[in-house]
Amino acid sequence: MSRYLSKRYNDMDAYVPGEQPRDMDYIKLNTNESPYPPAPQVISALSGEDVSLLRLYSDPTCKVLKEKLAALYGVKAENIFVSNGSDDILNFAFFAFGKDKGACFPDITYGFYKVFAQLHGVDAQQIPLKEDFSVDYEDYIGKGRLVVIANPNAPTGMSIPLWQIEEIVKTNPDTVVVIDEAYVDFGGESCYRLTEKYDNLLVVRTFSKSRCLAGGRLGYAIGPEGIIADLEKIKYSTNPYNVNRLTATLGEATVDAEEYYRERCAEIISTREWTKKELEKLSFTVLESDANFIFAKTDAVRGEDMYALLKKKGILVRHFGAERIKDYNRITIGTKEQMEAFVKAVKEIIGEKE
Ligand SMILES: *Cc1c(COP(=O)(O)O)cnc(C)c1O
Repeated sequence: MSRYLSKRYNDMDAYVPGEQPRDMDYIKLNTNESPYPPAPQVISALSGEDVSLLRLYSDPTCKVLKEKLAALYGVKAENIFVSNGSDDILNFAFFAFGKDKGACFPDITYGFYKVFAQLHGVDAQQIPLKEDFSVDYEDYIGKGRLVVIANPNAPTGMSIPLWQIEEIVKTNPDTVVVIDEAYVDFGGESCYRLTEKYDNLLVVRTFSKSRCLAGGRLGYAIGPEGIIADLEKIKYSTNPYNVNRLTATLGEATVDAEEYYRERCAEIISTREWTKKELEKLSFTVLESDANFIFAKTDAVRGEDMYALLKKKGILVRHFGAERIKDYNRITIGTKEQMEAFVKAVKEIIGEKE
């Protein structure tokens, strides 16, 4: 840190992304990426012509992509916002909707919410999850703050039903409710239809997890026209070209390949349930998950040690140091073969060899 950094950032801890080590070939189960490649038509969507067109700026309105997403969800293009990953959208949302009345979100959730709140000087109330790690929707009734909830939540994988989301939205008419649906395609119940009924609901989605495009950096949001227009205002005051030409083209091809992605999600869900059962046979506690990861602990090995021992065996999972969850590891669901290798390594570690 230099002495020039604005004082208000002195105490801010930047977000720490999952590690992406290059020292060996790991089975990567630590950042919730898809183990599958994008659809064939996405892989072949780019040509030399697209690269040569990089001399031109991208379309700041992302017209074609928005229209495709609008058609997919049966909304208008004015109800769609697209940006450089959903982190970008969440950042804009704290920036745009958090400053006047503050924000609230669970104590155990996506770590970036806290960082965005600090970045923008937004007063943040962190509301403890229940003992069983579920979100108690009653805690969010009539808060009068920006409400941000990941549904399914991370790193637990647990979700709350649509009617509870609606209660939260309905009872906070003067603030925005952001529902981060990064993992909804793996079993959660989407609330995007409610954006037609309520003018304060913003649903944030990403191409990074279920659309196998984490490195492309593409996120989108579905919301009422007013909120979408506000986000556009912030985007045009920051970086209008934040979705590059190549990624926009890949995103368009992705929307056209819905069926391929539905099949991949179904595979991941079935592998998730298989992995959960295998760990339970080994006396692990595994939280109910509607996401492409599971959150699990065992009494046999400390969370941090399990993480380190798996890494030695070439398998990366994610461990968080926070007191309430330090016994757990978050394990991204890979291919069936990867999960078989994972379960085998776990068995070796807890000394229960086959
Ligand atoms: C991965 C993740 C995101 C970020 O996704 P990007 O679109 O890659 O920026 C947002 N929210 C949650 C809860 C996530 O887990």
